Amino acid sequence: MADVYDKTKRSAVMRNIKSKGNKSTELALIKLFQEQGIIGWRRGYPVKGHPDFVFLNKKVAIFVDGCFWHGHDCRNTHPKENEDFWSKKIGDNIKRDKAATEMFMNRGWTVIRVWECELKKKNRALLIEKLKGVLRG
Ligand SMILES: [Zn+2]
Repeated sequence: MADVYDKTKRSAVMRNIKSKGNKSTELALIKLFQEQGIIGWRRGYPVKGHPDFVFLNKKVAIFVDGCFWHGHDCRNTHPKENEDFWSKKIGDNIKRDKAATEMFMNRGWTVIRVWECELKKKNRALLIEKLKGVLRG
């Protein structure tokens, strides 16, 4: 699939479209891949649905989601000001996330959603299990 943007420009465009503040969690996941010797991933692969990482040979798509922007219920993330604005925005993100997950699953892909909080030190062992469980298969 041809992309109208080159790689650098595409990342910049996608960063603007997607929720802000995703970059540090993506980098944390890359670090984890490297530490765990997980190879074969590609970041920001230009495929419809725009997962953060794909493993093309295993048909695995990984989305890294910020807890606030994607409505994770791991903590109280509701701001007091402009609550209507935020809940609509977060609600839209959740809908879009669901649609993207379904689209990939319908194509026979495995979808992994990595929450920001799963990259925290105390949760990392579980995350590694989750990733390896899928990627090993
Ligand atoms: Zn969370």
